[in-house]
Amino acid sequence: KNNNKVIIVSNRLPVKIERKEDGLVISPSEGGLATGLGSIYNAGNNIWVGWPGIIPQDEAEKAFITEELRALNLVPVFLTEEEILGYYEGFSNEVLWPICHYSPSYAVYDTDNWNTYVQVNEKFGQIVREYIDSEDTVWIHDYQLMLLPNVLRKQYEKLSIGYFQHIPFPPDEVFRSIPWRNELLLGILGADLTAFHTFNDAQHFLDACTHILNIPIRNNYLQIRGRSAYVEVYPMGIDFDKFNNLSKDAGVKERALEIKSYFKQRKIILSIDRLDYSKGIIQRIVAFEELLKNYPELRDQVVLYMLVVPSRDKVKQYKRLRDEIDRRVGNINSVYGSTDWTPIAYFYNSYPVEELSALYVAADVCLITSIRDGMNLVSKEYIASKEETSGVLVLSELAGASKELIDAVHVNPNSVDQISHALHFALHMSEEEKLNRMKANFDLVKKFNIHHWVEIFFARMKEIKIQQRKEF
Ligand code: UDP
Repeated sequence: KNNNKVIIVSNRLPVKIERKEDGLVISPSEGGLATGLGSIYNAGNNIWVGWPGIIPQDEAEKAFITEELRALNLVPVFLTEEEILGYYEGFSNEVLWPICHYSPSYAVYDTDNWNTYVQVNEKFGQIVREYIDSEDTVWIHDYQLMLLPNVLRKQYEKLSIGYFQHIPFPPDEVFRSIPWRNELLLGILGADLTAFHTFNDAQHFLDACTHILNIPIRNNYLQIRGRSAYVEVYPMGIDFDKFNNLSKDAGVKERALEIKSYFKQRKIILSIDRLDYSKGIIQRIVAFEELLKNYPELRDQVVLYMLVVPSRDKVKQYKRLRDEIDRRVGNINSVYGSTDWTPIAYFYNSYPVEELSALYVAADVCLITSIRDGMNLVSKEYIASKEETSGVLVLSELAGASKELIDAVHVNPNSVDQISHALHFALHMSEEEKLNRMKANFDLVKKFNIHHWVEIFFARMKEIKIQQRKEF
């Protein structure tokens, strides 16, 4: 048996499947994670297991998808409408998401959703089991699959299991709010290596293990059922080459000039995020208004280009947020704007990566105001796009990225004053200071890219595996 296989598991497979008139069209999706893990799951017998993002209409369609994906080293876990509602939209997005973003008041506890979350984690386990050899390496991604490490561990003692959580891990007393927190913690602890973006996340997880489960901690690891479980920090990088190359592409550069001329060479402050209460979108709009109020000379000189990507907008809180954005943007544009100038250019849409790149190139300032964010990749994509044009990153200190991008202008997003001052500061910064700050951040984003992240995570998994073989 081949015991060196790697199995990646995440909620979503890196594919997009669309139902067109003449049948299903399958295309790979190009997220940073998919690129970083590409060299892994595309090699040898390795596979990636996850939900394909579509509900097949019949057995024939199921078989077709399975077969097509097989050729891409992808293995689908098919979920029913009910499972998606309970496990994904219900428990993952209405309990784990708000709790892990320090917002317990947004959490909706429902035992049926929890039961479905348990069931679906078991279902992922069953599919993985069909492919596993006892000493393979399994890398599980993110909070939708917190129980999976232990689901697999129960059956395979020697399996090498890694768990990476892409969202924050909250202080233990916040995590304690979840009625099923013990099960969740024990679920994760099936992994040999549990990793987060920042030191604080890792520390919070360790705190939860001691304070909620009463397991003593030794530095960065603990003992559970005679096994060592390590808890470490691996800040995720981006596909640097992709964004850097795009920013130098002739078409993208031309498009960036077009965008600048569309806004009549005014300074462009850019923000890009999904519709989410964790992104501080309202704080950003209020701060921008404060800027126009406090510095009247800037009126007609700046625009806030705000791209909000549609997300979860069937959920009440998200719908409400969207309405509030509409209302506030409309209000500012009608109060401050003129026939010639609209202060906030707001788009509720998603764009192809070439357009994102042109926006990064064109933007004088990139403004990130997350009130809690695991990492925030947009901030890194902006930096990778700024080799040939200058710009300033104004970054929330509550986003994981702020721990690495120490040469950005940091703000506390809950302070409207701080954001508006930071914007004023950024808009008046000397070219020399802009370059110096950008260069330091640029070198970091270039070096600690997605490939580096995958490499060091697997190197560590291998090390732990060797050590644990000695212990067995
Ligand atoms: N993005 C995208 N389409 C868009 C706008 C953004 O695919 O129209 C991407 C963006 O390039 C980035 C990701 O969405 O890679 C957002 O990641 P981030 O970590 O900033 O936030 P998240 O949405 O994961 O909370």
